[in-house]
Amino acid sequence: MASLIRTLYKCSRNSLRSSYRTISNTANHQQTTSIDQKSSTNDDIPITLESNPFEKKKEKCILCKLDIVPDYKNVRLLSQFQSSYTGRIYGRHITGLCKAKQERVEREILKAQNCGFMPVYHKNPNYLRDPKLFDPDHPFRPHKY
Ligand SMILES: [Zn+2]
Repeated sequence: MASLIRTLYKCSRNSLRSSYRTISNTANHQQTTSIDQKSSTNDDIPITLESNPFEKKKEKCILCKLDIVPDYKNVRLLSQFQSSYTGRIYGRHITGLCKAKQERVEREILKAQNCGFMPVYHKNPNYLRDPKLFDPDHPFRPHKY
């Protein structure tokens, strides 16, 4: 019984060796073929992508998208970010602006109010019917409180 196992083992080893030899032979043969033939035959090799196809698109706020820089003289735009009832400046969860633009808007609104271009406790009635950039009743993100 033991001798039979031994012979089987030898046979399997020999067959494995021969199979290795055939593989190495084919590899050598392929190396000798010219480059243009190689490219035509190796269609199955994995390709490398230049960019990640699953990468998320970077979302931009409305001012960044339209490349608008808020200015204290552009009162009509700034009044969009002011509550029509109390004159309060809307937070970032309502306006959906990025941090930089929100800070800029708040700074420019304060500047305009100090200059007397913009009311503090209400919205200018001339701009009440302007089309809205966002809906304060349905904020982009829920407020943290
Ligand atoms: Zn932005």
